[in-house]
Formats: sequence, C-alpha cells, structure tokens
Amino acid sequence: MKWIVGGFSHETNTFSTIPTDLEAFKARSFGLGDDIRRNLGGTRTAIGGFLSVIDERGDDVVLTVAASATPSGKVTVDAFDTITGYLVEGVGANPGADGILLSLHGAMVPDHTDDGEGETLTRVREAAGPDMPIVVVLDLHSHITETMVEKATAIIGFQKYPHTDPVDRGVDAARLIARVAEGTANPVAALEKPPMIPVCGTCNTEFGFYKKLWAEALRPDRPKEILASSLFSGFSYADIPHMGYAVLVYADGDESIARTEAKRLADSAWDGREAFRYEPTSVADAVARAREAAEKPVVINEMADNPGGGGSNDSVAVLRELIAQEVTSAAVGTVYDPEVVEACEKIGVGGMIRTSLGAKSDDMHGDPIDIEGRVRLIYDGSFTYKGPMSQGAPGSIGKAAVIDVGGIQVIACSHRAQTLDPEVFRSAGIEPNDVDIVVVKSAVHFRAGFAPVAKEIITADGPGLTSLDLSIFPWRDIRRPLWPIDED
Ligand SMILES: [Zn+2]
Repeated sequence: MKWIVGGFSHETNTFSTIPTDLEAFKARSFGLGDDIRRNLGGTRTAIGGFLSVIDERGDDVVLTVAASATPSGKVTVDAFDTITGYLVEGVGANPGADGILLSLHGAMVPDHTDDGEGETLTRVREAAGPDMPIVVVLDLHSHITETMVEKATAIIGFQKYPHTDPVDRGVDAARLIARVAEGTANPVAALEKPPMIPVCGTCNTEFGFYKKLWAEALRPDRPKEILASSLFSGFSYADIPHMGYAVLVYADGDESIARTEAKRLADSAWDGREAFRYEPTSVADAVARAREAAEKPVVINEMADNPGGGGSNDSVAVLRELIAQEVTSAAVGTVYDPEVVEACEKIGVGGMIRTSLGAKSDDMHGDPIDIEGRVRLIYDGSFTYKGPMSQGAPGSIGKAAVIDVGGIQVIACSHRAQTLDPEVFRSAGIEPNDVDIVVVKSAVHFRAGFAPVAKEIITADGPGLTSLDLSIFPWRDIRRPLWPIDED
C-alpha cells in the first residue's frame, strides 16, 4: 500500500506580538521529501512513528513536508499557504495513495482564520476527495473544532504531558489508517467540549486529576468498539472561540457508543474541575522556599515565561529575587537577550560587564534588571538533548554567554527555547547538581529531564505570556462562560 505523510505544527499564543513567518519554521524544523526521513526517521516524533509502521509493513511512502516552529504569535498567511501548499501538492500528485497520515499541532492560529488545522484539513480533504482516509496525530494542547473532526477520518491526541509519547501515537495512527484502508475499521466520532480550560500547569499526566481522567479514558474494560479516545487539555493562551478542553472518542461503526463514552469522559472532567484550580506561588515565596529547602538543588520553573507556550524567554523576575534574597549559588537558564550576548562577546571571557538584562521583547514580561558580573563563557549555544523528551535530537539556544553575578550563573541567549533538559546547563559548563537553585523556563515539560536533578520543584508565578492567572489576559473572542475565567 502507499501512504502520504506530512507534518505542520505550531502552537500559537495569540497574545504574542512575535509573528510566525516561514523563516520561523525554517529556523526550527523544516523538511521536504526525503529530508523528512533523514530528519525524523527513527525519532520519537509522530512522523517517526508513522514511518516505523510503514517500513515494518513494507509499504510505500510519499513524503511531502514536515515543518514546525517555536510557539509564538499568529502564523503569517504566506507561511500557512506555502506549507499547506506542499501538502496539497503531494496529495494531488498521488491520487492512487491509500491514505494520508498527518502530524499537526491542533493549536495553530494563522492571521486569516481562527482554525489553522481545520483550514489545513479542509484543503487536504478537497485535494484528496471524500473517500481517502486521513488520520491525524495532534498535540494534547489542541483546540478541537467540528471542521477538524468532519474533515479527518480520525484524530488521535498525545496522551502524555510531558509529551513523551508522540511516537506511540504515530504508531497508533498508522495502524488505524491501515485498518480503515483495508476495510476492517470504521471510525465514527463523538466530540464533547465542556466549557472549561484547565491551565497548562495543572495538566501533568504523571500525577493528579488529569492522570486520573486519562486512566478512565484508557480503562481496560471500556467498550471494545472504541478505537481511540483523546482528552485534549486545550491551550489556554489563544483568544479564539473554540479554545478549551475537548474529549474526542472514535468507536468502530457505532456512534452511540462513541457519544456515550465521550459524554462520560467530559462529565468526569467537568464534575472534578476544581482539581484543575491553580494556586499561584509568588516569585518571592518561591525563592524563599528554595533557600530554606533542606536538600539541594531546588528547581524553580518560571511557568509564566515559558517559550514553549509563547513566552518571550526574557523575564528576569526570578533572577531579580535571587539577587534581592542574596542567593550566591544558582544557575538561571535562560534569559533571551541577544544584545547582552553581543556585549559579552565584545568584553571577552574574564571581563566584567555592567548592563541592563532582559524584558526587552514586550511589556508583558516585567522590567529589565541592572546587573554587574563576570563573563565566564561565550559559546554557540548548541547541545544534544539527553532526557526522555527529544532524546538524541540537537538543541540550540543560539549564541550564548554565561555571566557570573555574585555566584548566580546566568545564561544569556539569542534563540528562544524552553529549558527542557539539564544539557542546557551542562553545555554551558554548569553542573546543575553543584548549585543550590536551578531556574528554568518551562511549565511542565522540564520535569521529565530534570527529575534526576531536582530534590524539589517549585513553580514560581511571575509575569509573562504563559501565566497561569488567566484573568490578566484581554479576552475578547473566547466563548463565555468558560471556567475558570468565568467562575460558575
Ligand atoms: Zn503540547
């Protein structure tokens, strides 16, 4: 059999002022044709999963495009049209294919429509015709629309946050599409959207309420007709009508089974929603607790400035508090500030720098801080991920500098990147186990990589575009009421 494969992924923070153009995709990950196998074959991505099943079956594959960009503001029409154009072209050129496997995100908002994936799937469906199976893998942070469900044959979401399972969902999708094409499965969908949006930081699948919800969705005694169940947490930083939690269930040829199950899972989430309520810890309290902790290192994650969700990566709120509370053993990774990196380079390793650091991208990430410190290292910012997420993949924070500010090692960088992995520090010559406090820019993903390092993890709620306090955002287009933005 022959399968068409493609990928187009962006998590859009509609409050971000950084536009996502074609260059942003090329800077993160962009491949055409055989490049896709070279880049993603054998990786733990959804496309890696597609390819492993296709190869195992000895089937043929048409590789179209695979593009993803760092979370940021809306995707430009040019980038959207160009990338969907590659997908549509690949589909149009292969009318005899048996099906289409797509790795999309589910939270893409281009400039011209609220529903990036719905529009992508509409164009692909039009090119493919009504009968060709299209099975899609989506991130757990997805907004699900009726259009997406209508245009796809089936949609399967990640089950893990931190996202350690994209490859497994890719395998599920490839096995399911083969059954559909062979006529042994007929996925019928039911979508339920309780009016709620749990914020990202409360949606860890390794513990707590969301873990319980997933255990119910995947319980061994669920009806045997169920082909796939997904619990999409939603992505809380998008001011669009369909933002929110979604349950999507597919049953084999039986809508009433899918509907009953989706309703049950949606009711469980809605009835227990108080467990998703977030109690913020101020930056000052987080630092004070970290200082007093008996066992070190303590990892403080700056939830609100998570570049993995569209944060500008340049808040210095925690650094300011570390200095104010006279901490003398810490590592801060990272602060986006290319100007300071350049200034460090001019001064050279060993020299002293006095400068204003951070908070230059917008007015949502607090104020800059005046620092004085010694330049410890200038380097190219590249490293290799070694933790459970993205293991083996190359990473980069762009050209970077390490500045020692009274025993606090600050990594200033020139590419925005979520701090997922201790290698961000080790590649900068900093052993995180050797300092008292490690500061990372991440909401939840870092927990996978930093588990062997952190004796304790404290989430600090500073300023930023990924704050867990959703009341600070100027909502206009979301559906109302939406819990907890509108209390019930
Ligand atoms: Zn996600």
